[in-house]
Amino acid sequence: MKRRRLLFSAGAGVLGVTVLSACSTEAETPAAPGPPATSASAEKPGWQRVNLNFVSAYLLVRGSEVAVVDLGTAGSEGAIEQGLKATGSGWDQVRHVILTHKHPDHAGGLGGVQPHVKATWYAGQADVAGIQSATALTPVKDGDEVFGLRIIGTPGHTAGHVSVFDPGTGVLVAGDALRTTDGLAGSDPQYTADQAQAAASVKKLAGLDVKQILPGHGDPLTAGAADALRKLAASVQ
Ligand SMILES: [Zn+2]
Repeated sequence: MKRRRLLFSAGAGVLGVTVLSACSTEAETPAAPGPPATSASAEKPGWQRVNLNFVSAYLLVRGSEVAVVDLGTAGSEGAIEQGLKATGSGWDQVRHVILTHKHPDHAGGLGGVQPHVKATWYAGQADVAGIQSATALTPVKDGDEVFGLRIIGTPGHTAGHVSVFDPGTGVLVAGDALRTTDGLAGSDPQYTADQAQAAASVKKLAGLDVKQILPGHGDPLTAGAADALRKLAASVQ
């Protein structure tokens, strides 16, 4: 799997955006001298991570449209904007924003992002009421489809927790149903509403044809993800 690291300054710090996967051969071609990254033709397709230090947001660029999964804590809009710019896109292109769950480290960025974006905003049915939003959220449930992505109901961490699966690439954006802060593990028991449900959700995710795991906390797991997930599913209860 090809990975490239782009560094750019974001306010006081330096933010890394990792190109996780590309679905077009264009992205495999070494950069030729040409128009700067601000040109629409220079857009980098595929999944990208916006590393917000202890938590991540993920962008999916497809053609001239972008989906964002999770928005980090309140005040993350600057870093997310930089992440969009690094792909050659911007707020204008964001059409779908999916929140994996209601916790403030994932949904807290909503207030800062909403003024910039005309998008449809989604969250799991049971978490919608727990998220403060200026615009009505569209409730999603297991089996729904958004932007060609499959919503997987993964309750346990919260009652309305959802994960996002991209069947075309095998990318699983897992929110807090999985974490990789210390090897692949399930929802952190300390913050889990229902442990039995969380374990069942891990087993459910292991049934998907997963090639990469993009967790809320920890680095993306881009190699051996399916095996690691199956092993984890066999061990949780
Ligand atoms: Zn979290």
